[in-house]
Amino acid sequence: MAKTLYMVVPCYNEEAVLAETTKRLKDKYISLLKEGLISIKSKVVYVNDGSKDRTWEIITNIHKEDKMFRGICLSRNRGHQNAVLAGLMTVKDEADMVITMDADLQDDIDAIDEMVKQFNNGYDIVYGVRNSRKTDTFFKRFTAQTYYKLLLTLGVDIVYNHADFRLMSKRAINEMENFKEVNLFLRGIVPMVGFPSTNVYYERHERFAGESKYPLKKMLHFAFDGVTSLSIKPIRFITMLGLIIFMLSLGMLIYSIVIHFVGDSAWGWSSLMTSVWALGGLQLLAIGIIGEYIGKIYLESKARPRFIIQEYLKDE
Ligand code: UDP
Ligand code: MG
Repeated sequence: MAKTLYMVVPCYNEEAVLAETTKRLKDKYISLLKEGLISIKSKVVYVNDGSKDRTWEIITNIHKEDKMFRGICLSRNRGHQNAVLAGLMTVKDEADMVITMDADLQDDIDAIDEMVKQFNNGYDIVYGVRNSRKTDTFFKRFTAQTYYKLLLTLGVDIVYNHADFRLMSKRAINEMENFKEVNLFLRGIVPMVGFPSTNVYYERHERFAGESKYPLKKMLHFAFDGVTSLSIKPIRFITMLGLIIFMLSLGMLIYSIVIHFVGDSAWGWSSLMTSVWALGGLQLLAIGIIGEYIGKIYLESKARPRFIIQEYLKDE
């Protein structure tokens, strides 16, 4: 029997794209139904992440007209990752598989067929992987690729060029529920769940309309969170650095004692100044990084809810 597919689509100020997204998803669902790939109970769930524009109003209207579309309204803006999580946790009991996708049509809707087929082949997690970065600016492409490489060297198990366009089975989502972290970086957590997984390649398009909700500042924040939520190697690196500098300073100590007895001790002011500045800077950096981890522990220890649902538009 065909399995039930739920789509979770986070929306933050997406009034410009929702109509088009809805139309294309509807067409896709009809064709999937015809092919017998998904069951008639399949749904699309829009998660309104505290939008300030008409997004929720539009979602409400879509739901009124067509019960295949549902809406979840979060109590306020909690960020993309938490919006996706809220959707997954809300629908997991009713769905056999869930696909998460951005609202802006950058992710290729036609990749959904292949994802569902791979699910039927027995895969629990199907990652949507971009096969090129043609539509990105040079800057975005360069920073994104450097970042993926950095994460890999830091020992984070991450799928190269995969964002948050993926299919997960019910049991994978159930297991993911046990990852309670508040500092959520789904891309790093999903591979930790394990289970058989595979990739589906797709071309990423330009945003259909509206502008990116990830300005540089948010992107940097997200990137930094990704590292410090998933790897403690930066702290180890600092320890190593401290050790090396300590060794060097022992060398310097011996050197200055020798210079003292040779009698030319006023010499070396500039090297002294440089090392004071360099060491001061390094110490601040080290304290900063350690502080970042302590900040994370602080947030995790509070275990605040990661999202709060204000309203859930269902069929009944
Ligand atoms: N998004 C969200 N909450 C936020 C920011 C973004 O739910 O605080 C959603 C947004 O509506 C979109 C997806 O996350 O569906 C990806 O955002 P966007 O397309 O702006 O990011 P980009 O593709 O530029 O990285
Ligand atoms: Mg986008």
